[in-house]
Amino acid sequence: MAACMLSFSILLSGCADGNSQEQSHSHITKTATGDIRETTKSIEHLPSFLSAFEEEMAVLYQQAAEHRELLENIPCYCGCGQSAGHKNSYDCFVYETKQDGSVVWDDHATKCGVCLEIAAESIAAYDQGKSIKDIRHMIDEKYKEGYAEPTPTKPL
Ligand SMILES: [Zn+2]
Repeated sequence: MAACMLSFSILLSGCADGNSQEQSHSHITKTATGDIRETTKSIEHLPSFLSAFEEEMAVLYQQAAEHRELLENIPCYCGCGQSAGHKNSYDCFVYETKQDGSVVWDDHATKCGVCLEIAAESIAAYDQGKSIKDIRHMIDEKYKEGYAEPTPTKPL
């Protein structure tokens, strides 16, 4: 019995090793809504799905990742709150930042002009010295009419 359990655990760990080797190269999954999620080891390493786009796209993804605190407080008005369960503009670019610094990127924003616009405008205003509160107000005013419902971003 003990011997049997032992070989089972060796089998399991062998399996896990194979997986992690694959992940250290690049780990890509697709969500139910068709968005691609790709893991890289840090925000310095952009996901490979960006190579299909112009340089500007990669620059914006990098900036979005670097402005996490800002974008987590900015709602997105593209409808992704309902379609993809997003909570804020940051979610359109980055699904998750893990403890070890690795990043699960989301390709949602590459397919969505509104996501890109809101993030780019917010980052530009932030770099000009505007407060997060002012930027949130500016985005809310600009997109409240003619766009989808905002994401349920927590109030500032
Ligand atoms: Zn969005």
